[in-house]
Amino acid sequence: MIHIILFGPPGCGKGTQAKIISNKFGFIHLSTGIIFRNHIKRKTNLGKLASFYINQGTLVPDIITINMFNIEIKKHIKAKGIIYDGYPRTKNQIFSLEKELHKFCLGKINIIFYFFIQKNLIINRLLKRGKTSYRDDDTDIITVKRRIKEYDKKTSLIWDNHKWKNSIIKLNASLSVDEISVFMEKKILNLLY
Ligand code: ADP
Repeated sequence: MIHIILFGPPGCGKGTQAKIISNKFGFIHLSTGIIFRNHIKRKTNLGKLASFYINQGTLVPDIITINMFNIEIKKHIKAKGIIYDGYPRTKNQIFSLEKELHKFCLGKINIIFYFFIQKNLIINRLLKRGKTSYRDDDTDIITVKRRIKEYDKKTSLIWDNHKWKNSIIKLNASLSVDEISVFMEKKILNLLY
């Protein structure tokens, strides 16, 4: 089973590429943001808890996120591959993911695509997306800035370990959607054949 992580700041285009790539290869798209928003829509207890953090633009605490994620991944142990979009976002989440993969003999993390992009570009993208997606956390500049700060502080350095050096592939997230997906497809094909 193939495991591909999409990593980068909010608004870098992870979700867009996760959809394209998962369709192309028949992989599962796992987005913690989408799963949380589903819970919020269905007004579950988890949704009520998570919305507090999401609306203020901070990470949902690990204990909540990891529990939710571990339930979700168990539904896909027969998949060909998984595209992780927005998970892991902390070192604890990395440890936990590795533990789950090991526990169920699912293989290991194969590729970490690291989307890099200028800050002013992502702020503009997020505010634009807010106008059409009606995501509360995208419409408000303060929340948008807090999410970026949160990324810088808690997430940006989590793969900073020699262990991951050969798995990280940097990509320029200011290129067009097509250019990025073609680039990613080539790298994944290299892995498969
Ligand atoms: P974006 O990448 O644009 O911030 P997401 O849909 O990935 O959008 O995430 C929305 C919000 O959901 C985040 O701001 C955070 O509050 C919460 N969230 C998503 N994934 C995680 C995670 N792995 N750990 C903690 N919180 C998360």
